[in-house]
Amino acid sequence: MASGFESCTFFVPMPLSAYIFTGTDCMTHTAEFDVIIIGGGPNGLAMALALGGARATPRARVLVVDARDPRKFAASGNDTRGSALTRATQNIFHGLGCWADLKDHVAEMRHIIVTDGKGMLEARPSLLSFFTADGDKAAAVITENRWIAAALMAGVDRSSDIEVRGGVTVASIVREVGFSRVNFADGQSVRAPLLVGADGRNSFVRRELGIPVEGHDDRQVALTFSIAHELPHGLRAEEHFSPTGVFALLPLPGNRASIVWGTSPEEAAQLMAIDETTFNAALNEKIGTHLGRTNLEGTRQAYPLKRQVAREITGPRTALIGDAAHIIHPLAGLGLNLGFKDVAALADCVADAMLRGEDHGSQAVLERYARWRRFDIASTIAAMEGMNALFVNDLPGLTLLRQAALRLADRLPAAKSALMDEAAGMSGALPRLMRGL
Ligand SMILES: Cc1cc2nc3c(=O)[nH]c(=O)nc-3n(C[C@H](O)[C@H](O)[C@H](O)COP(=O)(O)OP(=O)(O)OC[C@H]3O[C@@H](n4cnc5c(N)ncnc54)[C@H](O)[C@@H]3O)c2cc1C
Repeated sequence: MASGFESCTFFVPMPLSAYIFTGTDCMTHTAEFDVIIIGGGPNGLAMALALGGARATPRARVLVVDARDPRKFAASGNDTRGSALTRATQNIFHGLGCWADLKDHVAEMRHIIVTDGKGMLEARPSLLSFFTADGDKAAAVITENRWIAAALMAGVDRSSDIEVRGGVTVASIVREVGFSRVNFADGQSVRAPLLVGADGRNSFVRRELGIPVEGHDDRQVALTFSIAHELPHGLRAEEHFSPTGVFALLPLPGNRASIVWGTSPEEAAQLMAIDETTFNAALNEKIGTHLGRTNLEGTRQAYPLKRQVAREITGPRTALIGDAAHIIHPLAGLGLNLGFKDVAALADCVADAMLRGEDHGSQAVLERYARWRRFDIASTIAAMEGMNALFVNDLPGLTLLRQAALRLADRLPAAKSALMDEAAGMSGALPRLMRGL
C-alpha cells in the first residue's frame, strides 16, 4: 500500500546511520534499516541476533524497538518464569554466539516423571517416565528466563549492527512501496523493507494488520517462581496433572527448581495475596517431603493462561514471530521453543533472499516463511490441545484411558524415543540455526 508521501520522498545515498528526509515532513528524520523488530522479548532479541549478530551472514542492519527498555528488563531479572530449552533451541544459542553466556545457568533435565497429580506426591505412581542414559545428551535443559534475556542482550551488545531503542511508543505503521514505516509517538520515524512483529500476546503489529486470532481463555492461571530446597533433585523434572492445572517442578542448578503452579483464577488470587510464610507452608504441602524443606526464592508472578493462534503469520512487508503469532499451553514447556523455531526459519528465508539479491521483505519471501511454519505451528497446537484434553480432565472414562495409554507408551521404547525426539525439538524440517549450522 503506497502512502501519498512516497511520491515526494527523495533519497540521500547513505550508510546505516545516515538519514532520509521526506518531502512531506522535512522536520522528521527517517532512519533506514534492513529489518525493524517490534518487541525486544526473547524472540525479538534472538531474531535481531540471527540477522544482525556477530555471526550472521550476511549481516543485516537491525533496529529493535520496545515499549519497555529490554536492556533494563534483562538486568532487572523481572521475569520469574523458567523455560525448558530443547536441544534444537540450545543449538540456536550456540549459533547466535550466546551459549557461553547461558551455560552456567542451566540444569540438564535427565529424568522426567509425569503423574496424574492425585494424593501426596510420594504415593503417586508415575504414569510415564523418561531417563537419559549416561553419556547421552538430555533432551532439554532448564534455565530461568532472566538468564535467557541477559544472554541474548549480551549478544546484542556485541554487535555493532543492532540498535535497541527502549521505552518508545509506536504510534502507527504505514506500508509504503518497498518499505514498512514505523512512526513513533515522539514524531520520529524509521523504515525498513521488512518489519517483524515480536510484540507478544497482545501484538500491536498483528492488530494493526487486522489479522484475527482464534483461541480461548483457559480459565487457569499459572504462578511462576523459583524455589530453594534442602535435598538434591537429581536433575529430575516432575509434571503433576490435575483438572485445575499442571504443577511442574523443573530442576535448576544447585538445590533449586523453577515452578509452574497452574490453578483456578480464584486459588491463584489467594496464593498471590498470602504472605511468604503462609505461601511457603502451602508450597511444602503441595510438593511433599522428597526435596526436604522448600522455600520461595524471590517473587512470584501470575500469568493468566490462554491459547491463541493468528490466522495469518505474515502481512504486507511484515512477519509475526513468537507469542504474537501463537500461544500454546505451557504444559509441555514448548512455547518459547516454538517461537525460536519461527526465528530460525525466518532467518533462513531472509538470509537466503539477501544472499541472492532478492527483496528480503517481498511477498515471495514472506510466503516461504509462512509455508514453512504453518504445519509445525498447527501440529504443535493440536498436540498440546490433545494433551491438555487428556490430562486436565477428570471424567472417569478419560482418566482410565489416559492411564492405560501412558502406561503403554511407557513400555514401548520406540514410542518413548519418538516422544524424546519431539521433546528435543529435533523432528521435522529444521532451519540451519536449529541444526547447529
Ligand atoms: C507460565 C508460563 C510458563 C512458560 N514456560 C515455558 C517453558 O518452560 N518453555 C517454553 O519454551 N516456553 C514457556 N512459556 C512460553 C514463553 O514464556 C513465551 O512463549 C515467550 O516468553 C514469548 O516470548 P516473545 O518474545 O514472543 O514475547 P514476550 O516475552 O511477551 O515479549 C514481547 C515484547 O514486546 C514488547 N511489546 C509489547 N507490545 C509492544 C508495543 N506495542 N510496542 C513495542 N513493544 C511492545 C514487550 O514489552 C515485550 O518486551 C511459558 C509461558 C507461561 C505463561
